[in-house]
Amino acid sequence: MITRFAPSPTGRLHLGHAYSALKVWQVACDLDGTALLRIEDTDSTRCRAEFETAIYEDLHWLGLDWPEPVRRQSDHLANYARALDQLAKDGLLYPCSCSRSAIKAAGARPGWDGLVYPGTCRHRPLADARPGDALRLDLAGALDRAAPLPDFTETGPLHAGTHRPDPDQLIGLIGDPVLRRKASGDPAYHLACPLDDAAQGITHVVRGADLWHSTFLHVVLQSLMGWPVPVYHHHDLVLDGDGRRLAKIDASKALAVYRAEGATPSDIRAMVGL
Ligand code: GLU
Repeated sequence: MITRFAPSPTGRLHLGHAYSALKVWQVACDLDGTALLRIEDTDSTRCRAEFETAIYEDLHWLGLDWPEPVRRQSDHLANYARALDQLAKDGLLYPCSCSRSAIKAAGARPGWDGLVYPGTCRHRPLADARPGDALRLDLAGALDRAAPLPDFTETGPLHAGTHRPDPDQLIGLIGDPVLRRKASGDPAYHLACPLDDAAQGITHVVRGADLWHSTFLHVVLQSLMGWPVPVYHHHDLVLDGDGRRLAKIDASKALAVYRAEGATPSDIRAMVGL
């Protein structure tokens, strides 16, 4: 059993991250497995080295340990490029130059993860890609090629059971995801995350319930690329003593600030109800 905690070094870790990390190590311990740390730093515009250093510091302070070396996504850019090449060869990528406001103006409707891309650039061949274009996955084409879609097992408290992505629902509520970001050309989360889960032999993905809907897309990519489908466990988000979600301002207070105020790792565990 191998699981992972996969933070992005775009800021200091806060209570919500502490809760998630502690859950990851708890599930690994319960199942007699190993928890890995993975640094998801493909967004070159937002990730910073000092936040990565702070992640190691904060997690060690919490009492967590992981095998070295830590996988940093920015060390594996060739892997994501190869996966994009394969999808391009299969005719499943198209270039997109739409801005957020253009997507809104085209009448995009809200879905599971923001506005559902209305397909404005879907007719454009890859050969027409302009510098700075994003690359999107043609989801309908991908679903055709990935069929039959596999079931996946969810063991978290909110959606426990067996699930299978439903193509119509995915097309209506997720739409064509960006797999290579515009301008920077960085690989996007929806490509890098399932690729690395496969590359690292992750058998159990433990993460927050805010990523529940992304799982359906990740399972489509796993089926498409021949990657194994791990067991998923989406934990609830951090709660206060009354079982209510902590006000954002508390949940987003940096662990380092609590530490500077004298909190101990056990205080942090107590604060997040563990
Ligand atoms: N890097 C993602 C985040 O910080 C986590 C991704 C995952 O666990 O799948 O939200």
